[in-house]
Amino acid sequence: RTVLGIESSCDETAAALVTDGRVILAQRIASQDDAHRPYGGVVPEIAARAHAERLAPMIEATLADAGMILDEVDAIAATAGPGLIGGVMVGLVTAKALAMATGKPLIAVNHLEGHALSPRLADASLEYPYLLLLVSGGHCQILLVEGVGRFRRLGTTIDDALGEAFDKSAKVLGLGYPGGPALERLALEGDARKVPLPRPLKGSQEPHFSFAGLKSAVLRAKQSGEYTDADIAASFQQAAIDCLIDRMRRALAGVGPVNALVVAGGVAANKAIRGALEKLAADHSLPFIAPPLALCTDNAAMIAWAGLERLADGQSDPLDVAARPRWPLDPEAEAVRGAGV
Ligand code: ATP
Ligand code: MG
Ligand code: FE
Repeated sequence: RTVLGIESSCDETAAALVTDGRVILAQRIASQDDAHRPYGGVVPEIAARAHAERLAPMIEATLADAGMILDEVDAIAATAGPGLIGGVMVGLVTAKALAMATGKPLIAVNHLEGHALSPRLADASLEYPYLLLLVSGGHCQILLVEGVGRFRRLGTTIDDALGEAFDKSAKVLGLGYPGGPALERLALEGDARKVPLPRPLKGSQEPHFSFAGLKSAVLRAKQSGEYTDADIAASFQQAAIDCLIDRMRRALAGVGPVNALVVAGGVAANKAIRGALEKLAADHSLPFIAPPLALCTDNAAMIAWAGLERLADGQSDPLDVAARPRWPLDPEAEAVRGAGV
């Protein structure tokens, strides 16, 4: 079976055709980095307009790349949230129109589920349950992934997401937008022991995160004029890694048996973070699984894959399904702990 995936929740417009045999037949991604760069972050109205202009021709081109016509697709999956609502609406409304025109099932995909299941697209050996570190531009969570739509959130950030902390620290260092990859490159030239930075929540009982204090400390280090940018970048990245590893160790101690330690989301593209997690997994005699870099940052193949998993589970959605700006993977945890934690 083949599913058309559509992604438009932030600043990547993307379409992909993926089979249940884990073959990405075709995929296209248009980044809007240039459009948002002058503003130092994503401007929702600019994003929505760009999605609206690009998505329809991109879907046509993706079908052409695969040598397929829409009638040969088995279902249409689109991100229905969480994200910037204008962009989400563009993708979801397009998917609804295509589903209506063809009579194919519509699958409304949670963008975070797309990230969370992407390691299974990349690696056929990955079975539920697995322990997932989901690190992206808007989220930093530790999840027990038990199955399609079955997530137990063990930890989350009480303030900033890790990608946000990377981007804001990069901005302080004048690295432009988006800053995560640039900060990683600069960190290679620095000494991680040079700048004393905090490890917020390290050693605390529950595996939650906090990155706002770290970000402020980066700003103070820069303003002090005492350190090179490369040393600040390296020290920031190391502080973030120390927090991630400490919290994941805590989560591993509390969770039942899992099949693998897994990382996903845009920040999972960071090689130093991948390396540290791989070592942690080895210490626990667990396989370490991370998607290839191109599947970490936003893409439509992961949305098509989540759609395939839902389709295999007998699920689809009505044509009036709503776009959701907020859509937690584990609503119970969110309800118990409140919006922030
Ligand atoms: P969410 O998925 O939470 O809705 P998003 O879709 O905006 O947020 P992603 O596309 O998953 O986020 O990830 C983008 C984030 O990943 C940005 O903050 C970016 O700086 C960060 N990022 C990308 N590559 C790297 C890297 N090599 N090192 C660190 N951070 C990175
Ligand atoms: Mg982006
Ligand atoms: Fe994302």
